[in-house]
Amino acid sequence: MDDCLFCKIVSGEIPSDGVAESEHAVAFRDVNPQAPTHVLVIPRVHQPDIGSLAEAEPEATVDLLRLAKKIADDVGGSYRLVFNTGADAHQTVFHCHAHVLAGRELGWPPG
Ligand code: 5GP
Ligand code: ZN
Repeated sequence: MDDCLFCKIVSGEIPSDGVAESEHAVAFRDVNPQAPTHVLVIPRVHQPDIGSLAEAEPEATVDLLRLAKKIADDVGGSYRLVFNTGADAHQTVFHCHAHVLAGRELGWPPG
């Protein structure tokens, strides 16, 4: 998509602090980290959220989840995988992304 921030990160048009990539997904550090490890894992293909991705691109969905697991395993310990979906759930970028949060105790329930 022409006007999508995360599509521009996938293409390299906008720089990011990349940590890993796979056939269908790209991982980079969040610009405003909420934990010692805060990595965003996104599909290369544009889909607005995880539900749409799962329906349209099941192979990319599994690939994205595997990349998120690898990043969490490399950090070690507990982690949280978050897909904010919809504006009231604080989704601000409408290109599917998983937040991998780790490196501190994570409270529950989330705010
Ligand atoms: P959301 O609120 O949609 O679940 O998460 C979007 C995330 O993208 C936020 O945590 C925000 O800090 C991050 N973000 C927004 N713009 C950029 C950017 O240009 N680069 C990077 N690395 N992260 C960004
Ligand atoms: Zn996009």
